[in-house]
Amino acid sequence: MTDLTKYTLDEALGGMNKGDFTSVELTQAHISACESATELNAFVTTSFEQALEAAKNSDLRRAKGEIGIIEGAPLGVKDLFCTDGVKTTAGSNILDQFEPTYESAVTANMNAQGMVMLGKLNLDEFAMGSSNETSAYGPVINPWRKEENLVPGGSSGGSAAAVAADLCLGATATDTGGSIRQPASFTGTVGIKPTYGRCSRWGTVAFASSLDQAGPIAKTVKDAAILLQSMAGYDEKDSTSLNVPVPDWKASCGKSIKGQKIGIPKEYMIDGMPDDIKKLWDNGIEWLKDSGAEIVPISLPHTKYALPAYYVVAPAEASSNLARYDGMRYGLRTNGSDLNDTYARTRTMGFGDEVKRRIMIGTYVLSAGYYDAYYLRAQKVRARIVEDFENAWYKCDTILTPTAPSAPFALGRKVVDPVEMYLNDIFTVTTNLAGLPGISIPAGLNADGLPLGLQIIGKALDEDTVFATASALESAADFNSKPAKWWIK
Ligand code: GLN
Repeated sequence: MTDLTKYTLDEALGGMNKGDFTSVELTQAHISACESATELNAFVTTSFEQALEAAKNSDLRRAKGEIGIIEGAPLGVKDLFCTDGVKTTAGSNILDQFEPTYESAVTANMNAQGMVMLGKLNLDEFAMGSSNETSAYGPVINPWRKEENLVPGGSSGGSAAAVAADLCLGATATDTGGSIRQPASFTGTVGIKPTYGRCSRWGTVAFASSLDQAGPIAKTVKDAAILLQSMAGYDEKDSTSLNVPVPDWKASCGKSIKGQKIGIPKEYMIDGMPDDIKKLWDNGIEWLKDSGAEIVPISLPHTKYALPAYYVVAPAEASSNLARYDGMRYGLRTNGSDLNDTYARTRTMGFGDEVKRRIMIGTYVLSAGYYDAYYLRAQKVRARIVEDFENAWYKCDTILTPTAPSAPFALGRKVVDPVEMYLNDIFTVTTNLAGLPGISIPAGLNADGLPLGLQIIGKALDEDTVFATASALESAADFNSKPAKWWIK
């Protein structure tokens, strides 16, 4: 029998529509794939029984002609989205036993469109990290392992690894500074962070509220379009949710990009960028030219301040958001001699090192004596970065950059040096600071045979053009390498 996990989401939906296989069969195939891939540590929690039940119900709905956008598709959910009755840990010990009694808006939208959820995917603790090594549930292993274990990127490392290893047809993820796009780049998958406000943040564990945005990780650009359509939409429970229609983004894939102007920001050509990433960027330029686009040089002059600004703003918001974990209402409680001691012990035991570091940085930059010097200054930089993009849009329609300044690196290599880890986000944080959509697509392999991604950044709410451009790039790059399935014994 054919291996049903080899299909893309779009193909699998078509296969079910034609009656080639059922959602139950498709789900069973993916459950077996998950069971033989425990070595990757992609899941924190699996929900296979519920998944089979959901698949059965989906097959019944399909028989009646009730077919949602992702009807019957076995998918994974980053363990940052609250799921009613299914443990939601945010990768943290402090939420180890937290079982929400409500469903996040994003997963509720997907359930309404026929999602079959296989389980909750591993991530950096509270989505803070670029390698999935800060998770309280252990690191995820990149399916593209070579001689040594490599990180899958982060924070959505479980989502990216699961999609790359064919454990699910697609997955939800979140991106505060690159956590959808950088893991996509590290695993040869597609990941899009839409415009800020496209997906409701309601019921998603908060990291930095002015930057957090949900989006999918998928096998192809078209799959990402389908998934995003199932996730997005206005929600009155999130005051920053945008009340705009959700287009049929699948229709944008494959549209001509003839005459489109694509900006190449000179500031992204950073010192020390590996040659194969430079080469890939050049290839991207040629591919887009061949597709009829016009390449224009642009300048985003405040790029060099983006990382420092991000690593002030994000911890500041995190320190405030994480104040709620005091052992009273959620998850872990470690009793102390009095209330303050209980708070202190709970937080000491519950949070890992990186989260504590962010809380300390955040509290420091917001404190009375340093607010002006750090937080206020970072907000001013943020405004300049927004302006940089606004000026760029006079010259171009989208921007092409590499997704990350490196290929997937070895487990344990950067986690010892937080600043080196932060540098990996250099090409992704700018779009979060400006609220713009950005997509990463796999575009080639480096000299060691590891995947590398290219990023397309678009104007706010112009995911249409982003999908059209990404799909042109995808066709030209013709990336069809897959990791060898070494974990199947
Ligand atoms: N790597 C970045 C950080 O650690 C971004 C994380 C994210 O996007 N959630 O903050």
